[in-house]
Amino acid sequence: MYKKLFLRKGKEESLKRFHPWVFSGAIHHIEGDPEEGEIVDVLTSEGEFIAVGHWQIGSIAVRVLSFEKRDIDTSFWEERLRVAYELRCAIGVARNPINNTYRLVHGEGDGLPGLIVDVYGKTAVMQAHSVGMHVNRNDVADAILKVTEGTVENIYYKSETTLPFKANLGPENGFIRGGSPENIAVENGLKFHIDWLKGQKTGFFVDQRENRLLLEHYAKDRSLLNMFCYTGGFSVYGMRGGARLVHSVDSSAKAVDLVNQNMALNFPGDTRHQAFAEDAFKYLDAMGDQYDLIILDPPAFAKHKDSLRQALKGYTRLNAKAFEKIKPGGILFTFSCSQVVTKDNFRMAVFTAAAQSGRRVRILHQLHQPADHPINIYHPEGEYLKGLVLYVE
Ligand code: SAH
Repeated sequence: MYKKLFLRKGKEESLKRFHPWVFSGAIHHIEGDPEEGEIVDVLTSEGEFIAVGHWQIGSIAVRVLSFEKRDIDTSFWEERLRVAYELRCAIGVARNPINNTYRLVHGEGDGLPGLIVDVYGKTAVMQAHSVGMHVNRNDVADAILKVTEGTVENIYYKSETTLPFKANLGPENGFIRGGSPENIAVENGLKFHIDWLKGQKTGFFVDQRENRLLLEHYAKDRSLLNMFCYTGGFSVYGMRGGARLVHSVDSSAKAVDLVNQNMALNFPGDTRHQAFAEDAFKYLDAMGDQYDLIILDPPAFAKHKDSLRQALKGYTRLNAKAFEKIKPGGILFTFSCSQVVTKDNFRMAVFTAAAQSGRRVRILHQLHQPADHPINIYHPEGEYLKGLVLYVE
């Protein structure tokens, strides 16, 4: 029996449409005084069961785990994790001899709000974004080991920076199952060092896998600039695609070390590649017109709705610089990973930049997050990555 949360009259509408969040303003009262992270039943004002989920403090008060009345027990976690794993097998990213890098759990997209799990070879890196998932971390870890058919042996828990600070849980990053220093993962046959200890997010940006493959397809004989390169994913694919030269740029010196390491893993001694630790805007201002393939994959410019306008200006300013300098016949891969920036917002920002440059520009591809980052159809907020591939005359 879980503690009961009663909604105000009429506030069950979004839950009836399977939206997985209960906002604090929708709550009438709660029986018992649940601790943050506890499982609670959500009931309508009439006392009818409507959902069960993790209670949390903040504007999202409950993250729904199920719309069926059920216990959130070992079999629940196993069931959800098994469905997630089977989906990754079905789309060909797991159980694949040339790829062992994939996202196993993408929060709401997998019916597990507040949980991210990325798999790198035999190690899964798990990140809790809610106190509830932190409380249930051991259940999740056991379920991962159980459903992945022995392919995952180690689980690294990395929630130091993702859990609500106020909850004061003091989680430490570290292995909670197994443990291994082996940190090379394979993505589409290319090797990458994954720094799950200190790297951004879970150590790697798994979400660009398919877009990197597309980039490889366009790289032959081109001069490539990979701006905001981080671990150099796009750069390594560009090399395999036969680029004439590949320049990787990131403001972080650590990222430049990582890209150099990954290059040495795949293309040792190949002099086509160079990496630079520099600010994007400075580099774009100072560079000439030598590039005919440019990637712009900046960090999220807007983290909240309030910063949307500024963010759109930022995307326009950045893309304008690329349009100004890219060689005629050049190809631009440009991205936004800000969740609050819609596909239309982003397209408008890039459109404005193109118009400012006066170049003739055509859209070749419209890109998005890959299938191992699925979007729950009832939770459109799960869509965040968008990109355009443009041909610039
Ligand atoms: N394209 C990468 C992911 C990019 S993440 C991949 O496929 O893995 C964004 C990167 O932008 C981070 O590595 C961050 O260090 C870098 N960055 C942030 N601000 C920057 C700036 N002003 N100039 C250059 N790089 C910047």
